[in-house]
Amino acid sequence: MNHVVEELGTVLSYRAEQLQLQAQQGSIDMEDMVANSSQQSNGGGDDAGGDDTSQQSRRKRPRIIKGKQKGGRANMGPITTTKGAGGSGELALCLSSRRNMCIHERVMEESDREAVDTACRSMTASWVVEAVQQNPNSNLETCSFFDSFQEAGEATIIPSGVYDLEELKKWGQARGWCPYYLTRQAINHANVLVFNYQYMLDPKVAKMVSKELEAESIVVFDEAHNIDSVCIEALSVKINERGLEQARRSLGRLSSEISKIKASDNQRLNQEYQNLVNGLIDQGLLAAPANDNTAGSRALSSDILNESVPGDIRRAENFIQFMKKVVEHLKNRLTTITSDGGVRSETPLAFLHRMTNRTTLDIKPLRFAYSRLNSLLRSLQVSNMDDFNSLGDVADFSTLLATYSEGVAKFAVIMEPNGSSIPGISDPCIQLSCLDSSLAIAPVFKRFSSVIITSGSK
Ligand code: SF4
Repeated sequence: MNHVVEELGTVLSYRAEQLQLQAQQGSIDMEDMVANSSQQSNGGGDDAGGDDTSQQSRRKRPRIIKGKQKGGRANMGPITTTKGAGGSGELALCLSSRRNMCIHERVMEESDREAVDTACRSMTASWVVEAVQQNPNSNLETCSFFDSFQEAGEATIIPSGVYDLEELKKWGQARGWCPYYLTRQAINHANVLVFNYQYMLDPKVAKMVSKELEAESIVVFDEAHNIDSVCIEALSVKINERGLEQARRSLGRLSSEISKIKASDNQRLNQEYQNLVNGLIDQGLLAAPANDNTAGSRALSSDILNESVPGDIRRAENFIQFMKKVVEHLKNRLTTITSDGGVRSETPLAFLHRMTNRTTLDIKPLRFAYSRLNSLLRSLQVSNMDDFNSLGDVADFSTLLATYSEGVAKFAVIMEPNGSSIPGISDPCIQLSCLDSSLAIAPVFKRFSSVIITSGSK
C-alpha cells in the first residue's frame, strides 16, 4: 500500500465525516437524497448492492482530482472495503492508458503504448463494431471485453471503494468488461480520481478525460515540482526531416483514400464537414448558434460557416493541398537551417509572416489545422492513428503558431542544426517552444474553483 492510497483514504474519511455532519445538520440537498433513494430502489447492479449503487447516480458534488507525475507509481495497491473508503460509500479510481489497463491477451503483448492504442482502436472503432454487427462473418475482429461492456450498458457499475489499476482489471476480468472503458465511464460518478498530469494539462487529451468534471471539483497537483516543464511540454512541438517525410507520405495516403471514398461514398465526406463544425463547437472554438436548444439545430447558417471554417480547408481535398504546402515550406526552412549552421530563434509572428508570404497560405485556416485533421481522420475511419502522428505534429505546430503569434511572444521558434543527442548525427529541427507555463494551466484555474499544487521537494 503506498502513500497515495493512504492519503486518499484520509481525504475520503474526512469527506465522509463532513457529509455525515452535513446530513445531521439537515443541509444535504433533499433532491439528492430523493434521487439516491430512487436509484437504490431501482436496483442498478448485480454486485453493488443497495448503498453501493447510490454513488453511481449523477450527483453534482465536490470531487477530488489528483494529478500525479508521469512515471510515478501507478499501482496504488488494493484498498476495497464493502462500504467504500472510510465507510462513506465513496468511489475512488485511477485512470491510466490502455497499455496499463488492457486485459485483452493479444493486445497486452504489444510492446508500447502506441501499438496497444492502435490494436485496441482497430477493434473498437465505431465503424468496425458496426461492420461486424451487420456482417458477423466478416474478417474484422472486435474485442469481446469492449463488446460485453457496450452490451451491459447501464448495468456497468463499480461499487464504492478505492481501486488501483490491478483492482480495476480484476473487476473488469470478472465481468468480462474492458477496465479502460469502464473506468472512463465511471469517472463521471467517482468522488476521487487519480491520473497523470497530462490528462488535465494537455489540451489534446484533457477534453476527452476531464470535460465532464464539475467546477466544484478540487484539483490537486501532487509532487508538482516539475509542473512547469510538464506545462511547457504540453504546448511545445518539435519537427524534423524524418517527421516531415512521414507527414508527406501520410498526406499521400489520405489523398488516395479521399479519391476512393469520393467514388464510393461521397456522402461521408459531406457529413465530414458538418462533423468538423460540431467538433469545433464541442471544443469551444466556435460558438453554437443562439437557438441551439432543439435536436438537430446544430447546423449553422452558411455565413457563420464561411466565417468560422475558412474555405481553404473546408473540403477534404483542399485541406490536403493546404497541408502539403505547409509541409513543403517547413522542409525548405529545415534546409536553410542546415546551410546556415548556428542555432537561430524567431518570434512566431516573424516565422508565420515568412510562411504566409512564401506559400500564399492564410493565417486563419492554419489555426484550424489540428481540428480539421482530426475530423478528417475520423471521417476516413482511420484506426491506426500512429501512422499520422507526424502529420498531427505539423498540424499542431500550425495551430499553435497561428493562435499565439500576436501580442507578447509566449512562444519561440527555435531552429537547431544539431537536434540529435547522438554524436555525429545532425538531425536539424524546428521547435515551437512554449515560454509561458501558465498557458497550459490557466484553463484549469479558470474552470475549477479549487486547485492545489503541492511539492515535497526542497
Ligand atoms: S477494449 Fe479494452 S480490453 Fe479490449 S483491447 Fe481495448 S483496452 Fe484492451
